[in-house]
Amino acid sequence: MRVIRSVGELRSYRKSLSGAGASVGFVPTMGCLHEGHLSLIRAARHQNDSAWVSIFVNPTQFGPNEDFERYPRTEEQDIALCRENGAEIIFLPPVREIYPEGSQTWVEVQDVTKGLCGASRPTHFRGVTTVVAKLFNLVQPDRAYFGQKDAQQVIVLDRMTRDLNFPLQIVVCPTVRELDGLAMSSRNVYLNDEQRQQALVLSQSLREAEELFEQGERDGGKIVQHVTDLIRTMPLATIDYVSVVRTVDLQPTEILQGGELLAVAVFFGSTRLIDNTVLGGGELLG
Ligand code: AMP
Repeated sequence: MRVIRSVGELRSYRKSLSGAGASVGFVPTMGCLHEGHLSLIRAARHQNDSAWVSIFVNPTQFGPNEDFERYPRTEEQDIALCRENGAEIIFLPPVREIYPEGSQTWVEVQDVTKGLCGASRPTHFRGVTTVVAKLFNLVQPDRAYFGQKDAQQVIVLDRMTRDLNFPLQIVVCPTVRELDGLAMSSRNVYLNDEQRQQALVLSQSLREAEELFEQGERDGGKIVQHVTDLIRTMPLATIDYVSVVRTVDLQPTEILQGGELLAVAVFFGSTRLIDNTVLGGGELLG
């Protein structure tokens, strides 16, 4: 395994492989790796000749009052986990390598970035698409791996990949959860014991919504109401959104047919957690 920190070194390593026909599976992350990230690395390794991981806390996807400065950084541990899980390359660039002095180009996806998380984080997806486009250009992967936990991110990046003709496949991997159901997230470390306990309401409410759907409920509004009511029983929870949307364009929908995305974002203190499920099962990307 090799740790690469500069764009120049990454480019020349990539060039040395071109023509060899070896496929690359790529996993972009912001580090503080947990089992969710590791599941992506293992999938990338199994489906390709090599797995490349980037670890970059991307400043442009954080809003002015968000947690960029205090985002957990655990570089040594991350490098060890990448090694144990079979990554070939870890790209760990400093900010100036990705955004050199004078950078002024953005990659921006329009409609699917407006709702859900985009409503309260208006510059977030522009930061995500810009950095991922840069990383795609540098790594030139055959497949790129993302978690369903960040469902809107997957849909935005799939749109970008198709719109900009990146020659790669987006692969979505299931959300990995703690034993009690909480979706794994690097931000879970911010939660105190009481918040951590009350945050279980997210996965619980999604499970109840799935049960309602299985019992024949097809009114999206009723499912949203049920989830909202349940989350509101937790005094430390402040809802950002509870929405049922079509996966194809992330537009809200009332009459359910199965395959719609039920997504929630909830604050516990200043920590914003997200979770989701595809009602009735099914794939996020059609
Ligand atoms: P992040 O480091 O938070 O930017 O996440 C990097 C990648 O890991 C993204 O594709 C996330 O969707 C994915 N990821 C984060 N948490 C999980 C999880 N609990 N299960 C599966 N994938 C995850």
